[in-house]
Amino acid sequence: MRTGSTHVTTLSTTHWIDGAATGTASLPSEDPANGQVLGHLADGGATEAQAAIAAARRAFDRSAWAASPRLRQRVLLDWAAALQAQAGALAELLTRENGKVIAQARGEIAGAISEVEYYAGLARHIPGHVLEPEPGVLSTVLREPAGVAGIIVPWNAPAVLLVRALGPALAAGCTVVVKPAAQTTLFNAALLAPLLQHPQLPPGVVNVFSEAGSAGAALLASSHEVDAICFTGSTAVGKTIMRSAADSMKKLSLELGGNSACLVFADADIGAVAPRLAQAATIISGQQCTAARRVLVHASRLGQMKRALAGALDALRLGPGIDPASQVGPLIDRRSRDAVAAQVAQACAQADEVLLRGGVPDGELAQGAFLKPALVYHRDSGADFVQEEIFGPFLVLESFEDEAEAIARANHTVFGLSASVWTHDGARALRVARALRNGTVWINAHNKLLPEVETGGYRQSGLGRLHGYDALADFTELKHIYQAPGVAGAAP
Ligand code: NAD
Repeated sequence: MRTGSTHVTTLSTTHWIDGAATGTASLPSEDPANGQVLGHLADGGATEAQAAIAAARRAFDRSAWAASPRLRQRVLLDWAAALQAQAGALAELLTRENGKVIAQARGEIAGAISEVEYYAGLARHIPGHVLEPEPGVLSTVLREPAGVAGIIVPWNAPAVLLVRALGPALAAGCTVVVKPAAQTTLFNAALLAPLLQHPQLPPGVVNVFSEAGSAGAALLASSHEVDAICFTGSTAVGKTIMRSAADSMKKLSLELGGNSACLVFADADIGAVAPRLAQAATIISGQQCTAARRVLVHASRLGQMKRALAGALDALRLGPGIDPASQVGPLIDRRSRDAVAAQVAQACAQADEVLLRGGVPDGELAQGAFLKPALVYHRDSGADFVQEEIFGPFLVLESFEDEAEAIARANHTVFGLSASVWTHDGARALRVARALRNGTVWINAHNKLLPEVETGGYRQSGLGRLHGYDALADFTELKHIYQAPGVAGAAP
């Protein structure tokens, strides 16, 4: 896949396999704010996946890539510098294809560049260790690249979610096949163009194919020539991938769904916290795995929180992401918008109290995939609409009497991605953070994700960790080499 040149406004992309463009751009990609066609992408499948896997296998087995950490760092640093030079245009394209507001797109591009730089640094520091378990016996443990990695990227944060997998995979010395989401393939092509065209990148080290369906992605999961798969998406597809991967026993990195709870204790300043929770719930229009979905507030502050949260959500300005005044953009497409709107309507019909009904806005915004935020209050944390991940601007408010109930309610979920605790009591904040069964817990903050810090899920939110040093574990194998040189002076 490429953009024809490295210029990001060329909106026509093909596959990129073994160092060359292939395929025909035929599938339209639309701006979710207004339905306008932005460009076209190639519609591949199992054939392209097979060719890409074969190219990645050859590059891993025959090129110098896996054994050249300095080359890997050079390529990653040059890629980061090229992205920096185009950061503004990339952010605009991200907003146009994904819908997110421009400030969030700019933040995502900056985060992605920072993350490429971070993994460029690590490329030259992937140490193993040596120990002497018995006198005269040396056990050398090396961290080696896992081989060919398949990376399946979603549309909601297509810069950071690609880079947090591709960065450690390339730093570790893997070769890769990337399958972007069809909805944001044009953006991913622009992001990848300077990397794919790097003169020192051996052909086949990075291959990319796009598809409207999922036959190619399914082949990545089942192929015996793919050594590691990194999937970011829903828990349901994650389970399917796990089943398909079983026969080949490949390494699995699964970053799946979430249902984040925000625990607000009685000492919190409700007036200050509510707008931050409203923002945390509507980031990327609520289409972020870590978005706030449940607010658990101490019973003594319930009435105040109902008013403050409904007010803060209602005050958010919906509009095209490209308009700097917009605070919430459209959902990814009208099909998703309709599905989420139906889930929210059903929740409103079942909830104890509807505090903000949300719904599809009229007027100019009706042309796009917009949905107004909704808020309900409900007592039973077992209700379907509390337990499911509704991937849009929808928030459930619950209340608790004490710390134990707050923890029990928050842990009443099959997910375990992230949560937040809001209180001025430092000891309580840490105590509760330790008791929550989540990969990330924020204290007096939400949605803070950093290139240097591992993110991942407990329970059905996934396997493995991305971002940070530990992401290398998902793309490496440990090898033990045993040597017995003996001890000087001892009998051989
Ligand atoms: P999705 O599960 O619908 O994923 C769609 C992708 O899965 C497509 O790329 C498709 O090709 C692929 N796919 C479908 N069937 C497949 C199969 N049988 N084998 C292999 N691949 C297959 O998810 P989505 O709508 O793209 O993303 C939204 C979900 O992603 C939400 O659940 C969200 O929480 C999750 N997410 C998680 C994180 C995280 O870090 N944990 C980050 C972002 C998004």
